[in-house]
Amino acid sequence: MPVDLILSNARIYTPKGIVEAGIAIDEGRILKIAKETHLPKASEKLDLEGLLLLPGLIDSHVHLRDQQLAYKEDFFSGTAAAAAGGVTTVIDMPNNKPVTMSSESLRERMEIAERRAIINVAFYSAFPRKLSEINLIVEEGAVAFKLFLSQKIGGLDIEDDEVLLQAFDKVSETRVPIAVHAEDRETIERAERELREAGRRDVEACLEARSPEAERRAIQRTIRLVERTHANVHFCHLSSAIGLNAFLNAKKDGLPVTCEVTPHHLFLSSEVAKRLKTLALVDPPLRTEEDIHALWDALRQGLIDVISTDHAPHAIQEKTVDSVWDVKPGIVGLETMLPLLLTQVNEGRISLSDLVRATSEKPAQIFRLKDRGCLVEGNHADVVAVDMSQEYEIDASGFYSKAKYSLFDGWKVKGKPVKTLVDGKLVMDGGEIVAEPGIGQVIRRPKS
Ligand SMILES: [Zn+2]
Repeated sequence: MPVDLILSNARIYTPKGIVEAGIAIDEGRILKIAKETHLPKASEKLDLEGLLLLPGLIDSHVHLRDQQLAYKEDFFSGTAAAAAGGVTTVIDMPNNKPVTMSSESLRERMEIAERRAIINVAFYSAFPRKLSEINLIVEEGAVAFKLFLSQKIGGLDIEDDEVLLQAFDKVSETRVPIAVHAEDRETIERAERELREAGRRDVEACLEARSPEAERRAIQRTIRLVERTHANVHFCHLSSAIGLNAFLNAKKDGLPVTCEVTPHHLFLSSEVAKRLKTLALVDPPLRTEEDIHALWDALRQGLIDVISTDHAPHAIQEKTVDSVWDVKPGIVGLETMLPLLLTQVNEGRISLSDLVRATSEKPAQIFRLKDRGCLVEGNHADVVAVDMSQEYEIDASGFYSKAKYSLFDGWKVKGKPVKTLVDGKLVMDGGEIVAEPGIGQVIRRPKS
């Protein structure tokens, strides 16, 4: 019997280095990586003409919206944007309408994703009101919980350390990670109140309200909970040098913590925010050049576990309302993360292995996405083919995302995702989506 597909004439990024070979794919998995003469016969063959193959990106911080927020993004538009950007798996955040915070609400999202997604989708849940429901949510297949410390989303009273302690304790029994949005609500709200009372309504005021100190406080508060419960905690979108240091100290102490940074915090400073105004408002906000340097240094030293987009689309009107205090925070990123990072590889600022580690290998490990995250025999055939020498300009008007704007619009990049395969099926070819809705899979946490 011939196998399903052979990807021929490729340069393949494997954990052992780049090999010039082909990949035989059968039933969605990598059957063999070898010189073409050693591969079995296939029903179909795709000549990659020397392109570099990387493991498809796993973006562990994405807001796919849909349901009552489908006007911002839905499972099809969001996963099409992902495929266009070389992303083969996303983990969907729970701050939806309705909030994902029960096994029922989780199941409902999974059912929509099964019909509409064109790449793999795994799910976070917010915390339920009753801690006894945590196990039900894990059994339903959530791969992680999300805790927002900057506002109450989900069932927990975030002011009460005792409540958080019990929740962390309960989750640690399941070994599912808890991703934390670490910005201290009280610090932010006090600063915002003072700035508003002083009559401030400029973008700078928004940046000031969400200070690095608010980030540091929330990180340290979370670390105290980890010390007592040993829950696996993943810090989302670290943005400041002092926040990063608080995290690194905990890591040095051997606590089970990991972290993520976003492309916007790596590439854009608060000066850009002042220029681009409300479009650049995001939580946590864009920071100073010193903060950016600290993030890059840590990334190059292998101290940053994950780069993910925090793709958070809104309707353009929601990003440009008159009062800065009412602007919806969030930046879109699914279609720009890989080209931005490939450009840095081309410029020698990071290595290809830094990129693959932070965008595929580590997210697969942290969220226990079995048999994904690297190109080895037996794994799912989630692959992105990139053209390292193609130069082009980012054009947000051509995005698959419903949010057709970007802080990176007009940026010149070098390195382009040109084909994306999910479970061995071609979903993006030359920038065009070639898959039907529903081809993607819902990834559930395996039953223990
Ligand atoms: Zn987010």
